[in-house]
Amino acid sequence: MIKKNTKQKLKSFLTRLIKKTKICTLYILLKAYRDYKRLNQLIPKKEKPVKFETIVFTATFFLNSTKTQNKFLLESPHNFFQNSLFCDLKYAEITDEGSTSQEDLAVLCKTLLNTYSSIQELSLITNCIQEHFVIEQRINEIRKVCAEHNIFFSAMVSLDGVRSMHDTAKSWKNNFQPIVSVVKYCIKEKINIAFVCSISKVNIWEIDELLAFAKENNYYGRFRISEFIKCLHNDGCQDIIHRFSEEEKYHLILFFYKLIFTYEKNEIHQLVYYNIINMLNGGERIIGCSYHSNGIMLNYNGEIAYCAPESKIIDNAVRDGVVKNYQKNTEEKERILETCCVNCIDDYHAKITSKEKQLHLKRAFWKKYIRLNSTIPFGFHKRVPAKSNGSKRIFITGWYGTETVGDKAILGGIIYELKEKYEKDIEIIITSLYPIITARTIKELNIKAKIIDAYSEEFVAYAKASEIVIMGGGPLMDLEELALPLCAFKLAKSANNKTVIYGSGLGPLTKSKYIDTAKEILKLANEIKLRDEKSVKIARDWAGEKKEIICTGDPAKKYLKVLKFDNPNKENILRCFLRDWTSEYAKNMSKDEFLEQKTRFEISLSNFIKQKASELKVEMIILESMHNFVIGNDDRDFAHYFIKKYFMNSLIPIIYNKKLSTVDSIVLSMKQSVHNIVMRFHSVLFADTLETEYTAIDYTLGGKIENYLIDNNKLTNMIRINDLIDNYYY
Ligand code: SF4
Repeated sequence: MIKKNTKQKLKSFLTRLIKKTKICTLYILLKAYRDYKRLNQLIPKKEKPVKFETIVFTATFFLNSTKTQNKFLLESPHNFFQNSLFCDLKYAEITDEGSTSQEDLAVLCKTLLNTYSSIQELSLITNCIQEHFVIEQRINEIRKVCAEHNIFFSAMVSLDGVRSMHDTAKSWKNNFQPIVSVVKYCIKEKINIAFVCSISKVNIWEIDELLAFAKENNYYGRFRISEFIKCLHNDGCQDIIHRFSEEEKYHLILFFYKLIFTYEKNEIHQLVYYNIINMLNGGERIIGCSYHSNGIMLNYNGEIAYCAPESKIIDNAVRDGVVKNYQKNTEEKERILETCCVNCIDDYHAKITSKEKQLHLKRAFWKKYIRLNSTIPFGFHKRVPAKSNGSKRIFITGWYGTETVGDKAILGGIIYELKEKYEKDIEIIITSLYPIITARTIKELNIKAKIIDAYSEEFVAYAKASEIVIMGGGPLMDLEELALPLCAFKLAKSANNKTVIYGSGLGPLTKSKYIDTAKEILKLANEIKLRDEKSVKIARDWAGEKKEIICTGDPAKKYLKVLKFDNPNKENILRCFLRDWTSEYAKNMSKDEFLEQKTRFEISLSNFIKQKASELKVEMIILESMHNFVIGNDDRDFAHYFIKKYFMNSLIPIIYNKKLSTVDSIVLSMKQSVHNIVMRFHSVLFADTLETEYTAIDYTLGGKIENYLIDNNKLTNMIRINDLIDNYYY
């Protein structure tokens, strides 16, 4: 009876709880419960007493340490490591900064493995400062020792750049080739090998080159931000590390996104990169660290520390024979936890933390809600209160977060017009797929606006509480993200607010799902201002005559016109604003047909550029970028590939600009050139609006580039891909 009553009470409590709780919270709780067991295993619990699982042994000056110490370490490992703290060791990392030539290194590994049968994995990090065959021999010896003990072995080499860049970053001569030889040797011998690149001010603008080199050769590597490491005695390097400018930090943010999306497959290391991005953006460390619970640092002198970057030496295993102070010296550990860890960008990591997990779960929920054909009922928004504050608020959505320089100018144009119309008395909210990217954009444009994550509760709260909701720029095209303007417009309508399509184009739209969504967005819009006449015609066909649809041109054009730019002196340079030709603009071709056509196109384009450069007698060709983010394709990657493939024997010097592009930098570079070869859509618009000499390459096959040039009466400046191939394919 008592049991029945308790059951009933519990049931009624749960029913009340479910009724009162938001669906979002329930979803998160449910997911959290499902993951509970897995999380329980993943998140290390604080254990007392601590049993180390990871030991990082810095063998840096192993060679130079006294014979007595070496003898002690090699012959009396029990004395060296004697403590129950070590009985659970699972992972040993040997960091070598010059000691790989030391024959005793393999003996040390053997001793360690003999002493601790619990060890499952051993890795060696080497900087290869000896002849490559010495390193290869040493790696091989350690590999054999590990094989005898049935232990997983891996090696890492320290590589900070390609060719001379590496040597400069390391301040060593001729170190690049031995490293490449060691990597090749390990790949041939099927030894797990990776490189690790430490990024400092010296190599920061060359890391994309290193990544491209790694991808070309199928090398795996990890990238980290150079840190002060007390045990490496590099505290004196302040001038090259930790001193990144705002531009450099942003460049690094873009680079780590590139690693996540195109290179690093391991989930934990992706989280390490997300953490670096967050910290470069001014946030605190969100990932765990193996030193927090089960890691210890041991150096060549037998000294131990809580962690490599920040800890003072807390004891000496050689001198004292035991690691007696580790647990007693809580002050040092607390100091590190309280004052250092939140700002530590080092890539030491532990398994996923609950804090990270929660962040992902929240976003996953909103991504599920704001999507085409969502399974979560639209009416769910009623549970989210509108975020009003009495001001005239304008909500702008679109593909922001992936903006090109052209999209930045569109945003600049829209906001300029809005401020003119409403006399600056407005609050602007911009949704972004990658808020860090858009935060940088508004800084560049000198705009005051609030950036919110496109997949968040704020999206719903602000869309309902804004007087005007705008789909600003960007074409309505075959994209799942059409869900953003669709959802924002529906939310605006639910609150009787105004909806506007502002400076967008239509297409390419080929799939019925996206065509239907675009039609629905048009139907929900109170005002439709499109950027070209062809889009206006399509929209009128779809929406009928009742709705007023006008062609207002591209807001980016207006933005360029209202800004006052200097007229710089001309340079005898041909500049190209190219992009990778992607298949969405050639949907009528099969994959193979497209790839063949793409190769023919690239060869023809390179020949056209060479011919133009020699006709104009320019001193140099420079490839500029209209886009620097991996989502949407970083033009610097294409430039690197294009030059390497087609211009190695060019008579006229050719380079690409590795720095980041802004509206201002693109305007300046276009105005300085004697001629611009433009391919990215907005590079066509920029070159034309700025009245420069230009040739436009229509990679859209009669799409937005042709539409723009027709509307602006400049069709003679255009070359179609087929014409280019007919005349320059040889
Ligand atoms: S300072 Fe860095 S390396 Fe040291 S314990 Fe904290 S997070 Fe780990």
